[in-house]
Amino acid sequence: MKIMSVNAGSSSLKFSLFDIETETLIASGYFEKVTIPGSFFNIKFNGEKIYEEVEMPNHTVAVEVMLDRLIKLGIVSSLDEIEAVGHRLVHGGDKYNKSVIITDEVMADLEKYADLAPLHNPANILGVNAVKAALPNVPMVGVFDTAFHQTMDETSFMYPVPYEWYTDLMVRKYGFHGTSHCYISKQIPRILGKEDYKAIICHLGSGGSLSAVENGKCIDTTMGFTPLAGIMMGTRSGDIDPSIVTYVASKTGKSADEVMNDLNKKSGFLGLSGKSNDFRDVNEGRLAGDERCTLAINKYVKTVVDYIAQYYVELGGADIIVFTAGLGENACPVRKMIMEKLACLGVTINEEANEVRGEEIEISGPDSKIKVCVVPTNEELMIAQDTYELVK
Ligand code: ADP
Repeated sequence: MKIMSVNAGSSSLKFSLFDIETETLIASGYFEKVTIPGSFFNIKFNGEKIYEEVEMPNHTVAVEVMLDRLIKLGIVSSLDEIEAVGHRLVHGGDKYNKSVIITDEVMADLEKYADLAPLHNPANILGVNAVKAALPNVPMVGVFDTAFHQTMDETSFMYPVPYEWYTDLMVRKYGFHGTSHCYISKQIPRILGKEDYKAIICHLGSGGSLSAVENGKCIDTTMGFTPLAGIMMGTRSGDIDPSIVTYVASKTGKSADEVMNDLNKKSGFLGLSGKSNDFRDVNEGRLAGDERCTLAINKYVKTVVDYIAQYYVELGGADIIVFTAGLGENACPVRKMIMEKLACLGVTINEEANEVRGEEIEISGPDSKIKVCVVPTNEELMIAQDTYELVK
């Protein structure tokens, strides 16, 4: 059975097509600058990369181009082969704690929660509508980024602010990257050889978040009302004192929105290093002795370690710490710096294993009190698996 997972952003569209019974990726594609002049796509199929420039003034055209190329490139012989489509949906508010078949009610809720995710939910809606128009008889499933974190209890998800902000304005911690945290949490029983576990999952990509997970259930997570909260990231500050926003606004004449934009787009690795939002560039600077690059990496490590320490206490211990996503899977020096700071918890490091990039491997030493592993995430497969479960 062929299942497609789709991730629609405001100016992009990604797809992955799976043979779901064998969990094999048949093809994937990334359509960029959708709605903007100069749009193009890359499709990977059969070990080849196909690049093409084609104007895609809206998501409907992008989906038409995608489906057309699936046939022309021989990826499918007929669109009927696509038996279901799973969509990555960002914000399901506090209503959706698992994936669902997309109905009119789900679409209305996506609109309702658009205030909470103004950059993402409207794009998700465009993506769903475009696929629905092209494949009207194919069942579609929504997989929410927020769903996995809905098991947090109120001491974790409530902010200590006026209670009416929660009841009237939906202000609470939601958490994001849930599909990745969920995927990793499902791998842990296999790795540990037991179903009962306490895990700290570190999804370290250009965005990043940690989650504390007990027996597959999310207890806490670092992102909050929006993805700006938690650890330092590529361009996001992570947690800061909110008073800084009004202070900087009053000193610079910027609006609150402009300061928020600085916190989302000009902070993190980019802000501290002044060089790049990409870990690789910042690490190069650090190795060349650049002080701000060194500071950026040290600060990053500190914010991750602070949350690992918090979650260790919150969980009452940990059987496993998992590193995943771009940095987590590949940034060996960062993993080493984090693990060295966890020596007080009895963590030891297998230096040789830690040099391995991008594959599942145990990187703690045999005497480590907590197992530390790298586990590549696969959000697209998770979306396709959830879709299969709901439509089969
Ligand atoms: P996202 O999906 O959120 O855009 P990724 O999960 O791809 O982000 O992570 C991007 C981050 O991973 C960047 O900071 C990048 O430098 C880092 N990264 C990716 N590949 C490597 C690598 N081979 N070595 C070190 N860091 C890497």
